[in-house]
Amino acid sequence: MFRSRKFSGPALSIKVLMMAVVALAGSTLSMPSASAAEKVMFGSEVNTANDQMTHFEADEVYPAKPQPLVIKDQFSYLQPWDQVCNDSKLPSDQLVKLPCQTSNIKPTLKYHGVQVVGNKWMSRACAEALRSVKNGGGPFSTVIVQIDNETGKTIRYWVSHNHVTEWCDPTAHGEVTCIRQACRELGVLDLGHIAKSNPNLKMPQTCAVSHCDLYTSGEPCPMCYSATRWSHIDNIYFAATVLDAATQGVNFGDETQYAELSLNYEDRQKLGVNCWQCTTDNSLDAFNWFKRGGSIKY
Ligand SMILES: [Zn+2]
Repeated sequence: MFRSRKFSGPALSIKVLMMAVVALAGSTLSMPSASAAEKVMFGSEVNTANDQMTHFEADEVYPAKPQPLVIKDQFSYLQPWDQVCNDSKLPSDQLVKLPCQTSNIKPTLKYHGVQVVGNKWMSRACAEALRSVKNGGGPFSTVIVQIDNETGKTIRYWVSHNHVTEWCDPTAHGEVTCIRQACRELGVLDLGHIAKSNPNLKMPQTCAVSHCDLYTSGEPCPMCYSATRWSHIDNIYFAATVLDAATQGVNFGDETQYAELSLNYEDRQKLGVNCWQCTTDNSLDAFNWFKRGGSIKY
């Protein structure tokens, strides 16, 4: 998030001070200058503030539900590629093992029936992922779009990249940080059904109900998939697959985590993961109090 800035040295003139106040206000409130609403929804360049977390306003028709691609011949199909392949200073013996990849790795069974052409929101998430890497962060980013259920128009959106190294927080994946920010700003826990009548709703919407869709540059890891479902988002779009994330030189182990979760606990011990189910006399006290004590359900 934005840090406060200190002014030192000779006394500042009122005019300079006012300019500073205006600049700070612009960067922390609606932030029109940070991106001019991302050049009115990605007209040209995207926001370049690496720590921008707060929402962007959006007012345009949201794309209809995508239709699955019909790929008649998987072996001759050539996926679109923007030809971004950076020069590298790595030694040639390493570099030869790290060619630029031009298409997603995907076993057809897993992704059968859900391969679609990405839209501008998906491209925005991928562009943010590249920017994150260029700033020393992880190669993942997320965009959450809030959509009016009545008109089908976008209301606002959030962009967040992987903040793991930046915040020294292994849970700060793009999906998690984006969900946290959207929920915090909206004041709701359910991003799948945002009711205008909700007394906790902190941001305006003209429609009775809106909802959020999530775009993430990489297939969600188990934590992020769960976080997305905990926030009741029903529409999840991703670009790179867990197999893309597992390639040489990238080496993120989402796929092995999914495999681990499918095992019984005893079998996970063979992987060196020891989970124990402990018996205590008070293990159900909190649940009993919750269901019998009139606690807020969520
Ligand atoms: Zn994740």
